[in-house]
Amino acid sequence: MFQLINLPYAPESLEPAISRETIGFHYGKHLQTYVDNLNKLIAGTEYESMPLEEIVCKAQGGIFNNAGQILNHNLYFLQFMPMKSEESALNGLEITRAVIRDFGSLEAFKAEFEQKGATLFGSGWVWLAADPDGKLVIMQEPNAGNPLTKGFKPLLTMDVWEHAYYLDYQNRRAAHLQALWPLINWQEINRRYQS
Ligand code: MN
Repeated sequence: MFQLINLPYAPESLEPAISRETIGFHYGKHLQTYVDNLNKLIAGTEYESMPLEEIVCKAQGGIFNNAGQILNHNLYFLQFMPMKSEESALNGLEITRAVIRDFGSLEAFKAEFEQKGATLFGSGWVWLAADPDGKLVIMQEPNAGNPLTKGFKPLLTMDVWEHAYYLDYQNRRAAHLQALWPLINWQEINRRYQS
């Protein structure tokens, strides 16, 4: 049985970038539903005892969709922290050096990431991922897609399903993506990169 993750912050602490109301629906309703659906779908199957990452790499159809959405949302919600100085948070981290090495600058990385998130057609996820050699890439994945299924390590993600931003930003997806940067816990992204 999979369980809803616990958030390591209070539901209102991501405001104003993400409202308490959006956390209530997105985490409390949408993610809970993916967890409930997956548990029903895998009961009595070979997937019942597999870790989420393995299900995502092996399953298709409804099991893939629900497992993928749980994995993606777990990575999404656990990458945030209450607003703080992003500059100091980025200092001295290996991931910071890798971003500058592979994109030229933090600003260039953010601009490309936001552009790929804003232009992803329909529902999906934009990812910062690492290839097997540690080189960083930005990937657009539709629906429940995750770079893991292509052999890449998922590091940071922004959810571009409308449920992620419509209560707070309506149709302004790009403005929502831009507002998320100060919430990113770069220590956590660095930990994922080094693992
Ligand atoms: Mn979502």
